[in-house]
Amino acid sequence: MVSAEKNHDVWMGFALAEARGALVTEDVPIGAVVIGPDGAVLGSGRNQREELGDPTAHAEVVAIREAAARLRELSMADGGSGDGWRLADCTLVVTLEPCAMCAGAIVLARIPRVVFGAWDEKAGAAGSVFDVLRERRLNHWVEVYAGVREAECGGLLRDFFLEHRTRI
Ligand SMILES: [Zn+2]
Repeated sequence: MVSAEKNHDVWMGFALAEARGALVTEDVPIGAVVIGPDGAVLGSGRNQREELGDPTAHAEVVAIREAAARLRELSMADGGSGDGWRLADCTLVVTLEPCAMCAGAIVLARIPRVVFGAWDEKAGAAGSVFDVLRERRLNHWVEVYAGVREAECGGLLRDFFLEHRTRI
């Protein structure tokens, strides 16, 4: 049996690949994937704020939208009701600690588990500045695994900002 930690490392590899894809459009390199109950990737996303000119196009939101659409498709193909918005039993894996908006979206999607790489001391909402994912006053609590492949996730961001600062 493969340990959960081993899975987290592998899944973070998918999120890191997404993050690198954001570099093509000069977007801050953040990537995310939603893993289904069977371990398959249901949705993936990268930060597309610059590419789309959309302040809400964060990696997590993009991945959640794709996963929900996929689940809906699978449910309809099964003769089901087409309910796809509830990402029960899924795991969201992201290279950077989610911000308040994304943590809110994770709660609304009822995702039970989040795995993230680097901490975001300035805007993180999974323990750094806020802890929306484990806010006792909300009706949905999320299990959080932090610091998975943290050096790689953080390094990607550090390199990006270093390069941008020298160019300005
Ligand atoms: Zn966000």
